[in-house]
Amino acid sequence: MARDILVCGLWHETNSFSPLATDLEAFHQYVHVAGDALLDRHAGTNTEIGGFMRAAPRLGMRLVPALYAGAVPSGLVTSAAFARLLGDTVRTAARLGPYDGALVALHGALCAQGEADAEGEYLAQLRSLLGPRAPIVATFDIHANLSPRVFELADVLVGYDTYPHVDMGDRGEEAAAILAELLTRGDRLARAHVKLPLLTVPQVQGTETEPVAGLMAALHAAESDALRTGSIALGFPYSDVAHLGVSVVGYGTEARPVRAAVDALAARIWSLRTALAPRLEAAGAAVSRALAAPAGPVVLVDVADNVGGGSPGDGTVLLDHLLRARADSGAVVMWDPAAARAAVERGVGARFEGAVGGRTDHRHGAPVNVAGTVRFAERLVYRRTGSYMTGLPVDLGQSAVIDVGGLSVLLTERRAMPFDADHLRAAGIVPETRKVLVVKSAIAWKAPFAAMAADHAYVDTPGACASNLRGLQYARGGSRCFPLDASARWAPG
Ligand SMILES: [Zn+2]
Repeated sequence: MARDILVCGLWHETNSFSPLATDLEAFHQYVHVAGDALLDRHAGTNTEIGGFMRAAPRLGMRLVPALYAGAVPSGLVTSAAFARLLGDTVRTAARLGPYDGALVALHGALCAQGEADAEGEYLAQLRSLLGPRAPIVATFDIHANLSPRVFELADVLVGYDTYPHVDMGDRGEEAAAILAELLTRGDRLARAHVKLPLLTVPQVQGTETEPVAGLMAALHAAESDALRTGSIALGFPYSDVAHLGVSVVGYGTEARPVRAAVDALAARIWSLRTALAPRLEAAGAAVSRALAAPAGPVVLVDVADNVGGGSPGDGTVLLDHLLRARADSGAVVMWDPAAARAAVERGVGARFEGAVGGRTDHRHGAPVNVAGTVRFAERLVYRRTGSYMTGLPVDLGQSAVIDVGGLSVLLTERRAMPFDADHLRAAGIVPETRKVLVVKSAIAWKAPFAAMAADHAYVDTPGACASNLRGLQYARGGSRCFPLDASARWAPG
């Protein structure tokens, strides 16, 4: 007899330092699907829910979809949006139940106004709906800040093993297989959770480079031994919550080996804390070096203004340096709806002069005066052809390219995540031919730009995703963690 499995989820990476509040409209703009539409959207996709769907038939599961919603990374989720999304999920789920278990797709770094541990609250309400016995298996992003409550409420947590994230479908399948085992077993697995007082920044979290590649190899070795499954959550350091930091979770049939394996992985991470420090170059020096380089393009990573981490994408520090240096070849993308619309109105061939960027707050640099010729002026719509989020449609709204000598400034009406080079090409900019490319990203830029880049530099710019965490004002968990507290201590057990 098929088992009835509730499927639902909520996805948002919340940047407490971002000035952009995340309201219900932000979820409707990105993803908000209920009932059959939830399954239709994810069928055949490399997503957690796509993975649940792939595994369900052979595991004898009938998936019952409630609600799945997500928004582009940005600031705190409004209390009204969170209450509404959770309320709708629970109401829909209650109407369609009862269930033998649940598969839940979460991020792990979602926080709402007045609800710092939003995913803990989400799971608490699902738990009271399902009762104490029905198992809940939840997936989460490698950037999760796992709280003790989330660990307690889910029977098993399954995290992504990759960054850039490419294994969501596999993790979804794994979660479904574990849920099937729990249903057969009729009992919880032994479990352990270590929370390290350690912040790591996205810049150093790539799973294909050391030291994280070695950590993931150690995790997989433990999974073929003491652990049925385990995960390392590297954390998202820009969520200012009490449960901030790196986590290791592990599950298995016997308590002692599970505890030992999780402690050993945590100790290994702790021993790497100095190696996990980011290397940054001052903005002026990075711009001079890029312009003097014998070959291009040199990618200047404006990591503090990482749009995919919740920053606005209108940081001006590097643009200002490039203009002052009279850069003769380069490209910068800037989110500035008003300037983009004004330039589009003027039209191709016209002269544009005005302040751009630095609109959302004073943390990402002041507006910068740009005077040049409009080279492109229209709504910028395209489909991603790169390896990351392939095939997804993108609409950047009214967009314009202003050429200041050989430096092209692409103004967009909507925030652009540089997961592809298509947005530059669609606006007439051939990135391979430019000496300098500024990307507002942490790791994802590598997919489209690493192969063409002659060199790159992570630049010490200010902003909501700064790799240099000392410029951020932590009110909750951050300041007791390494490296902000250089004397932070941890020992196993
Ligand atoms: Zn992530």
